[in-house]
Amino acid sequence: MSVRLSEFSQTVTVEGAFGVLAVAKQLAAGGKRIIELEIGDSPFPSPPQAKRAAIAAIEANQTRYCPAAGTPELRQAAADMVHGEFDLDVTVAHVAIGCGAKIFETLFCQAFLDPGDGVLVFGPYFPTYPPNIAARGARMVLADLKQENAFRPELAAVERFLNDDPRPKAIFLNSPHNPTGGVATEQDLRDLADLVRGRDVAVLSDEPYCHMVWQGRHHSLLAQPGMIEQCVAAYTFSKSYSMSGWRLGFAVASPRTAETLSRLANISISCVPPLVQAAGVAALREAGAERAWAMNEFRQKVTLLARGLNEIPGVKCLQPGGAFYVFPNVAAICNRLGLTSEGLAMYLLEGADDEVGVACLGGECFGRAGAGFIRFSCAEPNERLLEAIAFFRAAIDKSDRIANYLAVRPKYLLQQAYPT
Ligand code: PMP
Repeated sequence: MSVRLSEFSQTVTVEGAFGVLAVAKQLAAGGKRIIELEIGDSPFPSPPQAKRAAIAAIEANQTRYCPAAGTPELRQAAADMVHGEFDLDVTVAHVAIGCGAKIFETLFCQAFLDPGDGVLVFGPYFPTYPPNIAARGARMVLADLKQENAFRPELAAVERFLNDDPRPKAIFLNSPHNPTGGVATEQDLRDLADLVRGRDVAVLSDEPYCHMVWQGRHHSLLAQPGMIEQCVAAYTFSKSYSMSGWRLGFAVASPRTAETLSRLANISISCVPPLVQAAGVAALREAGAERAWAMNEFRQKVTLLARGLNEIPGVKCLQPGGAFYVFPNVAAICNRLGLTSEGLAMYLLEGADDEVGVACLGGECFGRAGAGFIRFSCAEPNERLLEAIAFFRAAIDKSDRIANYLAVRPKYLLQQAYPT
């Protein structure tokens, strides 16, 4: 007899990008040429310095356990980076190493949330926030980010949450923002800090795109007075150093919180492989030029993609302030064609052409506030991005193909027009 799975494991929602990735790979295996703009990953190789350091670490037998908090060398290099680049006055004691940024969603929730606690999340949101909150029996409270406000967090929503929620306990902030490309201004962060300072409220400041701010520079909530006591900032090597497969990241918080996060890491992952951490030290200390080159490439890609998409009638697309996604409003197109934004994304992949497909994500992957939008990452060479734009423009005029697609996928029929 098979054992009944937990309620949580049976209902858990996962990152939709991986599902679209699977469809794209399947179509590609069948011979279709797919322009892959669905997954938020870098197309560039990891820095050679990181690769060499990991190989040397294996040769030197750094292949056993290490402290759950991370190696002293990486914690120091991480502290130096956020001190030098984001003005954070921190030491090794403020740093906890983890496998990517994502693990800190889980550890933050374990560290701060009890059943019934309220957690403010801005939507569209990164899809693994809700299940991590739900796993603690806590309640997600949504506040929408709006295109007309450049997808910046609205402080009035934070104020409402703090004043009206029966048990406000935490806020998830993500800037630069996935999927919208919105960036909170330094003033937004100052205002947010003023609202939460001194309350029993913790903030997860999810900052994987800290090196992808396209105007000015990155600001962390942690730099605001008092926030080190109330905030966990999560960083990763996945984006800045094209190291997503190494699974390496770190959190910066007060020494008490960092130590708590490491104790919680101890009961699940034990530690991040020391040879991976050696690669991280080399990336932080030696791969500045590689990072700068890749960031400049991403900047050009998002600019090119947003500009090209904006020329398509019915598309309203902001130039992203940060991150490597472009998040056009396609509500007018969806309303005209009678299909949902998820349907539009899947039509571009599956239905618009027999030989070529463009993989991207419906905004619904990021919750209700994403409906009427689609997300393109820009992990392809520039000529393929241009090809994707031309493909999109032609695809939305193929009325026969759209009708045929909706006939086989009626779940994508738009029931109620999106607001435009
Ligand atoms: N948070 C956000 C907002 C992200 O976009 C991502 C990566 N797509 C992560 C967390 C997880 O990153 P990592 O690969 O470092 O776990």
